[in-house]
Amino acid sequence: MSRDIKAKADQVIAKTYKRFPIVIEKGKGCTLWDTDGKNYTDFVAGIAVCNLGHAHPGVSKALSRQADTLFHVSNLYYTVPQVELASWLTENSFADRVFFCNSGAEANEAAIKLARIYFKEKGENGRYRIVSMEHSFHGRTMATLSATGQDKIKKGFEPVLEGFDHVPFNDIDALRSKIGSSTCAVFIEPIQGEGGVRCPDQGYLKAVRQACDETGTLLIFDEIQTGIGRTGKLFAYEHFDMEPDIMTLAKALANGLPIGAMLAREEVADAFGPGSHASTFGGTPVVTAASLEVVRVLSEENIIDHCKKVGAYFKKRLSWLKNRHESIEDVRGMGLLLAMKLNMEGDQIVTSCMEKGFLINCIQGSILRFIPPLTIEKEEIDALVACLDEVLN
Ligand SMILES: *Cc1c(COP(=O)(O)O)cnc(C)c1O
Repeated sequence: MSRDIKAKADQVIAKTYKRFPIVIEKGKGCTLWDTDGKNYTDFVAGIAVCNLGHAHPGVSKALSRQADTLFHVSNLYYTVPQVELASWLTENSFADRVFFCNSGAEANEAAIKLARIYFKEKGENGRYRIVSMEHSFHGRTMATLSATGQDKIKKGFEPVLEGFDHVPFNDIDALRSKIGSSTCAVFIEPIQGEGGVRCPDQGYLKAVRQACDETGTLLIFDEIQTGIGRTGKLFAYEHFDMEPDIMTLAKALANGLPIGAMLAREEVADAFGPGSHASTFGGTPVVTAASLEVVRVLSEENIIDHCKKVGAYFKKRLSWLKNRHESIEDVRGMGLLLAMKLNMEGDQIVTSCMEKGFLINCIQGSILRFIPPLTIEKEEIDALVACLDEVLN
């Protein structure tokens, strides 16, 4: 069966993905099973999406209860779960208003549009440029790939959208010199995810905030990967004693159902009026009902504390590996957004781990990224570390 599926996929699915040769059939918690019955401990979690693990019973129940009641009516009308989710998000963040959409790229599109219209509304028509970071990742739509600081994402799709400047991450002087009279926003991942799990230097994000304040520039945080508990706080900005003006969320917000959200404080959000932006599916009842259960579980079951604890333990174990293997150059990350930079290609390591029953992820060719469900246990981490120790030998 798995061979038939693979052969069929190669005929009928667009060729945009290079896939591993397994067909995943079901999951429970941190474990996945393929169609041949082999099981894997999942350190990918659907790319930092399934933070509560697979087939979470509470989320499934909330989802099916809502599915039996009402799927969709569009944003022409009010629906209860959408309002409740927006209330929870605003009560638990710096933000006052939420725009819902269906993916990370769409949330970032909304943020880019809001930053531009904010200054238009103020009569500052010339302020439209956005400064983002080298090695950043903001999505694959035309605007978000233009914001992205990686050439390989843009290649073939030029001309990119006009109005994006890039500076090196962690270089406050470069950022200060790039912010000009036509800059409307600085757009940044507090920890770069896809670009290699790069963490901000001590004081950097506070200095970014200050540079924005001094110039009246908006600060947009892309927390699509870092949000919803991943780094050991609900939102990564909470680690850095500062707040952005706009924040985008997606990935883990509904534990695997498609959702995006763009949050902003009142004065900024006010620039969006009726008709300025919209999404047919955005904040639809089924997805927001599931997401409400995700945030309820996160806050009531100490999941984020657990993430912080096992994340610290995991990082210690990766450092232990680094002392044993010259091929490991660096161990970095926060919470359960962790990575190990190798001095060689990582693909073979990923394949060997998969054969031994562990799913891990390789980014940028030589960086192993570990983004398991936040519910992962020490024993599962120890088992992966033992596997990596063997594979790296
Ligand atoms: C995944 C990701 C995106 C894009 O999200 P999609 O849902 O794939 O559009 C944008 N920014 C960051 C930081 C991400 O990790």
